[in-house]
Amino acid sequence: MKVFKFGGASVKDAIAVQNVATILKLYPNQNIIVVISAMGKITNALERLTNSYFYSSSDERTEKGNAATLLSEIKKYHFDIIEQLFPDKDHPIYDEINNSFVELDWAIEDEPAHNYDFEYDQIVSIGELVSTKIVNAYLNEVGIQSKWVDARDLIQTDNTYREGKVNWELTNELVEKNLTPDFSKREGVIVVTQGFIGGTSENYSTTLGREGSDYTAAIIAYTTNAESVTIWKDVPGVLNADPKWFDETKKLEQLSYQDAIELAYYGATVIHPKTIKPLQNKKIPLFVKSFLHPATTGTIINEAQSQLPIPCFIFKINQVLLSISPKDFSFIVEENFSDIFKLFAEEQVKINMMQNSAISFSVCIDKDPKKLPDLIKILQKEYRVLYNDDLELITIRYYDQSTIDRVTKDKKILLEVKSRYTVQLVVKNN
Ligand code: ASP
Ligand code: MG
Repeated sequence: MKVFKFGGASVKDAIAVQNVATILKLYPNQNIIVVISAMGKITNALERLTNSYFYSSSDERTEKGNAATLLSEIKKYHFDIIEQLFPDKDHPIYDEINNSFVELDWAIEDEPAHNYDFEYDQIVSIGELVSTKIVNAYLNEVGIQSKWVDARDLIQTDNTYREGKVNWELTNELVEKNLTPDFSKREGVIVVTQGFIGGTSENYSTTLGREGSDYTAAIIAYTTNAESVTIWKDVPGVLNADPKWFDETKKLEQLSYQDAIELAYYGATVIHPKTIKPLQNKKIPLFVKSFLHPATTGTIINEAQSQLPIPCFIFKINQVLLSISPKDFSFIVEENFSDIFKLFAEEQVKINMMQNSAISFSVCIDKDPKKLPDLIKILQKEYRVLYNDDLELITIRYYDQSTIDRVTKDKKILLEVKSRYTVQLVVKNN
């Protein structure tokens, strides 16, 4: 069986949903598990809704109705799409989606009873639940028999809300029980389920981290021993640079798991970094293909041994460089490192690049206005901390000097770390 993943952009409006049906029709008599994200930018909208629900007092909620306004915009967005897809107003999807939102209506009338991350997951997971209900109903409407399955009955996680850790053993059992039997009976079975969300042992919803639907596809492929995963995107495949920053990008025909995981780790947004490991472990190939031109080849990620023929670029903006040194000019030693790493782990700050000298340790991190001030304050108890912001981090895999010169033109290099295949440069615009 195959696993297909459709992200937000591929279900952002009625035409996009119709296109999903067109793509599935290109694969008749095949068993396919379709993993779908929330529509368009709905996850961001639900995030804003969660913030206004969680951070404003109940008075403000009823008076200004901020969360309620956001919710009605979210509802309208979905119902506009539903009206285009289902001209018959008596179609059961109208009630079904209404009911999904009624629960949310009620929930935001009450005071938040749990912590932010918990409330976030209960609210934000609605995006995937409604998108899959709509797409599933539409597929059946146009003659593609498909079954809606609740991903929370397949993927079990712990209670780490917003970053659920998968319980692989339980997930395997659940997939075996709730998914595999559907596929053993006949050919041409299509199951639609949600990306990004999982369930806990107490039946609460969790999410797997932003953009986590790719990871869902990989988890499902791993547990079902799928023949392949295809991620349908609005780009022709994996490109050697993000077209947002680069005019001349080239599509990569083939990529090794190793290169894919490195590129994703350094910040290439085309695939979620957690996606590769489960696929590599079972040697399941991953295709990245264009949902606009489904007949074109896209990129295949597999066990290829070859290195990439051209340099790949990853840009991260909004970077901060921290330089951390002992206050008394003493050497920075292993004990300091373990101390510093522990603080970063506790504050959940990810290090994008690092380098040390005799008396200082430099780290490049994302500028997160929530986490950064706390981190600096804690570090300053023991260390002298200097920082430099408005920086960019450029990573080049398969670099050569001419590409380094090209990307650093008109930029000042503050820090450079080179390994055999990869160079990372922290730069400031001149
Ligand atoms: N809808 C979720 C997000 O936007 C998950 C995903 O799209 O992969 O983060
Ligand atoms: Mg998305």
